[in-house]
Amino acid sequence: MPEVCRSCRSLPVASDVGYCRDCLDRLVGVALARHPVERAIEQALQRHDPRTLPGRKQLVAAVVPVVRRIADPEERDVCLRLLARRSGVREDVLREVMALPDAVPWVARP
Ligand SMILES: [Zn+2]
Repeated sequence: MPEVCRSCRSLPVASDVGYCRDCLDRLVGVALARHPVERAIEQALQRHDPRTLPGRKQLVAAVVPVVRRIADPEERDVCLRLLARRSGVREDVLREVMALPDAVPWVARP
């Protein structure tokens, strides 16, 4: 029997973080409204255009270090989801970037 969302206790969980897709969306949209990662994304969006490939890379490079500093794995997971949505970069790609050492070598330097 599928695991049930820890928040609404009715829908099946959508990932390994224990929430259904609806509740994850709510967490991302509401709980993170004033989160450091949300602020970092807002600031990066003013400087980098996610509609272009270089802009997306710079955006991710600017925000990933902030996500890395989050100690709680569930909170980090939700933040990656938020970054994926705002940047247009897939979550699995973001996870690869997260696993890289400090520098983000795939960002082209200006
Ligand atoms: Zn739920």
